[in-house]
Amino acid sequence: MRGLMMDFPLVVDALVRRARTVFPRREVVSRRDDGALHRTDYGAVADRVDRLVGALQSLGVRRGDRVATFAWNSHRHLELYLAVPGAGAVLHTVNVRLPAEQIAWIVRHAGDRLMFVDRSLVPAIRAALPALPSELQFVVLDDDGRGADAAVPGALDYEALLASSSPAPAVAVDERDAAGLCYTSGTTGEPKGVLYSHRSTVLHAFGCAMIDSLGVSQRATVLPVVPMFHAVSWGLPHASVLTGSKLVLPGSQLGGDALASLIEGEGVTLAAGVPTVWNLVLQSLRRQRRDLSKLRSIVVGGAAAPRALIESWQFEFGVSITHAWGMTETSPVGSCTHPGSTGLPANDVGDIDARCKPGRPVPGLEARILDDDGEDLPWDGVAAGELCVRGPWVAANYFGGAGAEVFTSDGWFRTGDVATIDAEGRIAITDRKKDLIKSRGEWISSQALENAAMAFPGVLEAAACARPDELRDEAPVLFVVPADRAQPPSPRDLVAHLARHFAKWQLPRVEDVRIVDAIPKTGTGKFDKKAMRVALRSSG
Ligand code: AMP
Repeated sequence: MRGLMMDFPLVVDALVRRARTVFPRREVVSRRDDGALHRTDYGAVADRVDRLVGALQSLGVRRGDRVATFAWNSHRHLELYLAVPGAGAVLHTVNVRLPAEQIAWIVRHAGDRLMFVDRSLVPAIRAALPALPSELQFVVLDDDGRGADAAVPGALDYEALLASSSPAPAVAVDERDAAGLCYTSGTTGEPKGVLYSHRSTVLHAFGCAMIDSLGVSQRATVLPVVPMFHAVSWGLPHASVLTGSKLVLPGSQLGGDALASLIEGEGVTLAAGVPTVWNLVLQSLRRQRRDLSKLRSIVVGGAAAPRALIESWQFEFGVSITHAWGMTETSPVGSCTHPGSTGLPANDVGDIDARCKPGRPVPGLEARILDDDGEDLPWDGVAAGELCVRGPWVAANYFGGAGAEVFTSDGWFRTGDVATIDAEGRIAITDRKKDLIKSRGEWISSQALENAAMAFPGVLEAAACARPDELRDEAPVLFVVPADRAQPPSPRDLVAHLARHFAKWQLPRVEDVRIVDAIPKTGTGKFDKKAMRVALRSSG
């Protein structure tokens, strides 16, 4: 017998309808490029979303088309988050930190037909222009309405476009239709696109609103520092629209002082970002004390939250860090540990111990750990294996179908992270199987570094791995075996060569290029990254 409940479609437009009617005067604050604050509210955002749906349609956007954004966190980006799926199209958030070559590759792979670009990011787009499809139409997001056409030839100005467009209702879509697309680094080869559905987006927003997940609520003032181009800003924009939380968007100004002043000035209660960000804010607060009395929690994820960071925030500023784990493929929130989840006070050493782990899977997500033969490992907090997950907001495939190897035969997603799980269901990430380096929240492919290095004259072999770094979370170290030991390549010249293919933040420091006699190999002749990391730790 079937249940007799409504088959209510879980679509992004439902979030807009709710914000428009239930929280029209709730504020959305964005930092402009000149540092001033722009204030609007969900009612005004919803009205502009209607116009934007009309504008997209007048530009020929149809159901299933991909529309790219190349932008920081702002009210305009929020409007695009809501209007592109509202027009039945797919919002493709392009990572602005990638090198031009990769941006062009991703845009071509996604088949984007339109791209919305922040004025401050136009130079990065200009650099990628020769490799971008010539038919790509640009729209420039500008605080001051300067000529868009001068920025990128043929570009439209966002504000002028909205002003000249008529509002249009959201297009009826199936909840399983695609709503968003976000690329993540592939361990081998090219980036992979994660294609979110309306349904997964809305369910994930509900998930983020749960107190045992991120706890976004109408009582919250949320500051997503994690970019809207990286893993959907951890779902915070959608969850804020759903719950009516005040939203504070930091724009392009992500320094410690700028963020600390936003937290104080806007009464932020819940902030989220990678560990390096919270180190910067910590340093700013040590220089200039601020009123943090409203700040209830900081969600730290994207990389392991170091114990020292958790302790400094707790004991110097009385702010408790919630440690979270997730991935682009998991929408991204997967697990978290809240202060007090042990039953102990947040400043008790036992509670801090617990928060060094990203903790229990959030409600809705299931986890298991598998050994190399695919057998389940016990949840004893000791046995470590590959973390696998499943749930309604976990990817079932990649855009274009690449990557079947990351799913188990029974459909679980293999995360590439190595973890233990204890008897109380707390996950601890102990290592990474995938061969990637994560610096300030963004990926560097060690294989791409190696291949580029091995193309440099005088390099016989090169292997890259991560070393821990306080400012970057992880930094790449490149081991190089010279073709001729008597004449090793110059590390400085090698880094200059790499700079032609990688963004500056992806490069190893000159002193992290280490000339060695040999690189450790596994039994099958591959670079033994585990042994390399161990060697690095013991050499300091
Ligand atoms: P991304 O898809 O870019 O969000 O990256 C996801 C990956 O970041 C995970 O698979 C982990 O390797 C890493 N990561 C995220 N959160 C944590 C955490 N709390 N501890 C350790 N690694 C993490």
